[in-house]
Amino acid sequence: MFWRRWCGLFLDQKRRKKSDATYKNYKHILGEFVDQLPASVRFIDQVNADVLDSHMRYLESEKAAPKTISNKMMVVSFMLKAAGVATPSKMMELPTVEEEIPEPYTREDLQALFKAMTPEERVRYTFFLDTACREKEVAHAQWADLIDGKYWVRKKTFKARGGKERQFSPKSHETRLIPLTRELMDMLNARRKSSKSQRIFPNEWGDPEGHFLRKFKAVAKEAGLNCGECETTISEGRFTKHPAEVSCLTRPVCEKHYLHRLRKTCATFWHEKHIPIRTIQSWLGHKSLETTQKYYVASAIPRIVPPPCSYSRRICSNSSTLVLLSTRSSLGAVRPEAESRVYGFQ
Ligand SMILES: [Zn+2]
Repeated sequence: MFWRRWCGLFLDQKRRKKSDATYKNYKHILGEFVDQLPASVRFIDQVNADVLDSHMRYLESEKAAPKTISNKMMVVSFMLKAAGVATPSKMMELPTVEEEIPEPYTREDLQALFKAMTPEERVRYTFFLDTACREKEVAHAQWADLIDGKYWVRKKTFKARGGKERQFSPKSHETRLIPLTRELMDMLNARRKSSKSQRIFPNEWGDPEGHFLRKFKAVAKEAGLNCGECETTISEGRFTKHPAEVSCLTRPVCEKHYLHRLRKTCATFWHEKHIPIRTIQSWLGHKSLETTQKYYVASAIPRIVPPPCSYSRRICSNSSTLVLLSTRSSLGAVRPEAESRVYGFQ
């Protein structure tokens, strides 16, 4: 059977089960793989370690990072497996990928970031910073998921634009409850009154917002936090796109700013507040305790407040002061709140 047919069958399956973005990504990766195959390799049983190695060398020559190569080869491996190849992953030696644990933001960085935000952005990124949620978990958050002061991260089906039924599942397929800080709850309660959507952060069409990262990078640039050393190629032009070399000196493309850093920062705050590691693991939705440990071993934020308490934050949008406020909670279980920290912007 020809390659395109195998890839087509595999992709049809993925189109039904995965998000549009994942489907498109798989399609691109497999298209690239098939395009690079030597003309003599026409059938599945002709794939061997040499063929796969040659594709990996091609990806290297394209300057793909080890992580990208690894991810792409995994997708090729899924397709081969679906086509009946018993253990395709054993035919490839994937590059070693160092697991990257981001640095948490310092309090000065947070102060600068939140100062540069619009009120709308403050609610959005406070949600990221106070819940440690992953991007998709924020994009798919619904009002109905807020229960008794907690955000219920759970699997759900929803209607996308055009009436198509879609499904959202948390990364590790683990449902979990994350306690919200008092300040975040106040912000959300205020927002809920004027919301016309079932989603907390819908885009202009009422769908899950897909540009949290791009918007966050714009905030970082506005806050003057870009490192000035990143260079990248972006696609520019409104009607006809063309590649353009840009620097983070002048454009919101700094690689040092990404949403996972907010997740890491939140985990670090929880750790500083002496929240038990098992609890942090559950709030982060980590399968393994080892991953959670890696999250805070490299903590760069010095402890400034004695235990036992946790944090909460209030951003006073009508004054130039960011106040981390004190609230005490008697939830019985640990809750990420209480104590006082005040930062002036001047
Ligand atoms: Zn940069």
